[in-house]
Amino acid sequence: MVNLAETVVDHSNRRDHQSLIAADARHVLHPWADLSALGQAGSLVISEAGGVRVKDADGRSYLDAIGGMWCMTLGYGREELAEAMAEQARQMAYYTPFGDITSEPATRLAEMLAELAPGDINRVHFTTGGSTAVESAIRTAHYFFAAQGRPEKFHVLSRINAYHGGTYLTQSLSGKAADRTHFHYEADFVHHLSSPGYDPDISEISAEERLRQLLDEMEAEIARIGAENIACFIAEPILASGGVLTPPEGYQKATLDLCRKHDILYISDEVVTGFGRLGHFFASEVRFGLAPDMIITAKGLTSGYQPLGAVLISDRISDAISAAAPKDKPVFSNGFTYSGHPVACATAIANIEIMQREDICGHVREVGPYFIDRLRALTDKSIVYTVRGDHLMACVECWTGEEAGPTARNMALAQRVDQYCQEAGLLVRPYENLCILSPPLVITREDIDRIVAILGAALDRATQDLR
Ligand code: PLP
Repeated sequence: MVNLAETVVDHSNRRDHQSLIAADARHVLHPWADLSALGQAGSLVISEAGGVRVKDADGRSYLDAIGGMWCMTLGYGREELAEAMAEQARQMAYYTPFGDITSEPATRLAEMLAELAPGDINRVHFTTGGSTAVESAIRTAHYFFAAQGRPEKFHVLSRINAYHGGTYLTQSLSGKAADRTHFHYEADFVHHLSSPGYDPDISEISAEERLRQLLDEMEAEIARIGAENIACFIAEPILASGGVLTPPEGYQKATLDLCRKHDILYISDEVVTGFGRLGHFFASEVRFGLAPDMIITAKGLTSGYQPLGAVLISDRISDAISAAAPKDKPVFSNGFTYSGHPVACATAIANIEIMQREDICGHVREVGPYFIDRLRALTDKSIVYTVRGDHLMACVECWTGEEAGPTARNMALAQRVDQYCQEAGLLVRPYENLCILSPPLVITREDIDRIVAILGAALDRATQDLR
C-alpha cells in the first residue's frame, strides 16, 4: 500500500493545477453540486491517495473520514486491486454480457456472492452501480408479478429520507424533500412511508411506541393502496445519506413480516450497509434477522476501485421468473452495456479475497463500537444536538441551541464545521445540518482519535463564531 506520508508532491506543475481548476469551473457540471457556489471558490482537486489519506493538488494531506463516498473500504493504493484490474484489462477488457455470453470474472463473482448472501439468494444480476441495481430490482419485481398474470401489482413502498440513487426512478424512490426542486418525479406508483429513524437520545416517545406507529402506518398504507396492487417495499437497513437513521429495534423484521403477510417483495438496499460497514458482508440477516427477496449491493463491492453494482435475487424470484416467462417473448429485457464488466468483477473478486484474508469484517466489529463511543463524547459540545451511528457509519447533528433540524442557520453551521475540518486536514461530509462520517474500514484507533480531535476542535471554532 502507498504510504502517503512518504510521497513527495511535485509543485513544478502548480500552474497546470490552476488551469485545471479553471477548466473544471468552465466545463464540468459536478454531480450534486451547489450551482451558485460552483466555480466561485474553485474545486478541490484530489490528486493522490494512499491508505486512509488523500492529497490535494497543492500537496495538502487529508484524513478521509467519508471513505470517498461511503465506498472506499480497503484504503487507497492497494497494489493487489490495481494488479487485478490491470491483469484482467490485459487479458480481456470487455465483451458484451448480453444474452448467453458471459465472462469468467462475472461468473466467479456471482458464485462468490451467492455463497456470501443470506437465505436462498443464489442468482446475481450485475449492473454498473447502485442506482442501476435498485432500478433493476424494481423492474424485476414488476416482471415477477406481471409474468404470473398480475401486472397491476406494480406499486412500490419507500420511505421519507431514503436515498436509492440518482436516476429518474431511484430519485423518485428517494425521499429527501430538499432534492426535489425543479425536477420531475414518478408519483403514480411510488409511495413514501414516514422516515423510520429513531434516536433514543432525542425522541420523546419509547422505541416500542415508535415501532407501533411505523407499523400501523405501513399497514394503513397497504390497505389504502391495496396489497393486490403493491409489488415491493424497498428499504436501507439503516438510512445512510438521509442522515444515518436507525429504525427502532425490531422494525426491519416486523416490516418483512408485513410484506410476507401481504405478498409484497422485500428489497434490502445494502449499497452502504453491506460489504463490511456494519461488520458483516451483508447486515440484513446477521444484524436484522432478514431473509430479503432481493439485496442491492455496490460501492464496497469493489472497495470503490471500479464502478459495479448487483441485484442479488432469491431462488423463489428467479425460479418463478424463468418458469413464467412468456413462450413467445422469453427475454428478460433489462441490463446495461457494462453490466458485470470483467475488469470491475475481477476487482470485486480480489476485494472479497482481501476482505476474507484480512478479516476486515472482524476489524470493523472491533473498531466500530470504539468509533461510535468516541464520537458520542462530542455531544458535550453546545452546538451538537445529537450523535448517532452504527459501527463505521455515523453522523453529528448540529443545532444553534435554539432549534434542531435543517434551518438555514444550522446548515451554515455544518458547512462551517466542514470548512474548519478541511483546514485541519480532515474530510467529513456536510449534508444540511449534519456532518456525516464513513471512514475506510481499515481505519485504526489512532486515526479514529485524530478524526474526533479535529472534528471536536472544528465544532469549538464554529461555536465561537456564534458568539
Ligand atoms: N442506494 C444507497 C443506499 C445509496 O447510498 C446509494 C448512493 O449513495 C445508491 C443506492 C446509489 O448508488 P450509485 O451512486 O452507485 O448509483
